Amino acid sequence: MQAVTSTSSRIDAKRRAVLDPRKRQFAKSEWIDPDYEHRLNFYQTPPTKDISLEDFEEWAIARLKVLSELEACSFRNRTPEETSEYMRPVLEKWLRLDSNKSRSGELSAQRKKDHYSHWTLRLAFAGTAELRQRFAKLETQLFKLRLQSDYDDEKRDFIKGLKMSWEMVGPEEKATLLKDLKAATGFSQSRGDEEAWFKVDWESVPDLVSQRQVLLKRGKAYVHIREQLTMVQNAFTRSLDSGLELAARFLPRMDEDNRLAPILHHLSQSFVAPEANYSESNSLGDLAKVSAGDIDGMSKHFPLCMQNLHRELRKNSHLKHYGRLQYTLFLKGIGLSLQECQMFWRKAFKLIADDKFNSEYLYNIRHAYGDVGGDANKRGRGYTPYSCQKLLTEALPGPGQSHGCPYRSYTPDNLMSLLQAIGVNDREVLRGVKEDVGRQRYHIACNRVFEAAHKVELKKAKDESSLPSSNFDTILHPNEYFKRSFVLRNLGMVKKGDIGVDGPSQEAMSQ
Ligand code: SF4
Repeated sequence: MQAVTSTSSRIDAKRRAVLDPRKRQFAKSEWIDPDYEHRLNFYQTPPTKDISLEDFEEWAIARLKVLSELEACSFRNRTPEETSEYMRPVLEKWLRLDSNKSRSGELSAQRKKDHYSHWTLRLAFAGTAELRQRFAKLETQLFKLRLQSDYDDEKRDFIKGLKMSWEMVGPEEKATLLKDLKAATGFSQSRGDEEAWFKVDWESVPDLVSQRQVLLKRGKAYVHIREQLTMVQNAFTRSLDSGLELAARFLPRMDEDNRLAPILHHLSQSFVAPEANYSESNSLGDLAKVSAGDIDGMSKHFPLCMQNLHRELRKNSHLKHYGRLQYTLFLKGIGLSLQECQMFWRKAFKLIADDKFNSEYLYNIRHAYGDVGGDANKRGRGYTPYSCQKLLTEALPGPGQSHGCPYRSYTPDNLMSLLQAIGVNDREVLRGVKEDVGRQRYHIACNRVFEAAHKVELKKAKDESSLPSSNFDTILHPNEYFKRSFVLRNLGMVKKGDIGVDGPSQEAMSQ
């Protein structure tokens, strides 16, 4: 990963531009990976070894997934305990970090992925003050979560390795100052406080000084050991803040790298809503056969973007091009065959004659399914259904168009009316949606509506399938919304445990 290091001596953009990649194949790597002694990392040293572009992007996307789930927890006002429970499977899946005690053979690979993905996102989010702030906040939360879950002895070793400028108060000094130390730091045996203090320069703990929670003596602040974790977290944030400022200054150099710049740009866009690829498991598969005549009935499971298109279609017996494309791909994604899809559109465009329909509309439907056309259709599979990220970052629809995501494109008043029209009447939910939308957290608003609409089923699913109390990660794809809604409303049709972080299992789908 030489291309993403941050010291000027390592990056010579002009030189890099004339390097012949063929001559590099026999070159010895100048950089070596650290040995990752600890599970936790302060990310003070950038990684320097080469990695493939695929790993560069994949690892960053995995980390982004973790950060966005963490952010979703705070938008949903989850308590620290709920957040930690919710994040456990998410972290296991995307960014697992085992302890030294685990003796896992994967330790080094896990820590390397963690290290590289942090630095990739650091570059991706260094561009604006808002992104830097958001990234630093989430990274600090992640660090805190991991710090709290670390084994005590491993935590102690890690903190010791940080070489922070604090000194434990020795037995003699402690004995002399014990009374003052206890009084100044609110030491209390009854809450299990450990009888241990350390001393630091008083300027490094301004908060504790102003709250009178330390003993001050000859320029030193005597701090109780219980404050150590908070101090480590604060040091982490300070170090990351200054690292992000530094990265921002180096960003223009990255623009010269035409391999990394598009990836970094794409990653920074992903903070709107993380990318989620369409998965075949989001179709109904063998759970139910979908025909053209079922779409009206099934539309109650659709997310707002698709319900909106369906309503417009029924109202006007017509949809403009982008709306048609968005809806066709979605219907294809839920499992509607090409023949059924053609039938669906033919009936829906009832004011249009056969000739006109065949000459102006049929081709596009077949093209979306990969039945005709070249380019993306080369393998005959056609286009994949659009993700929330795509719908949330494309140009806004113009007059008479209905495509995109209504949480983003509708005015707050029109959005409230649309939600009420599809049966979302709970004031608290509507208020939450307004707030999410005001903060441009569109996919969070959508998840809020989903959770409210499926409250009873979600509880039942969790109870019956022994899922952890909050095991449904954030929905990031309209087809994922549909599948999850359908499965929850038809719980009897699926096996216990079939709905989890990944949606219904492949095993269930094939039965
Ligand atoms: Fe559709 Fe995604 Fe918007 Fe929800 S957040 S309405 S699923 S685009």
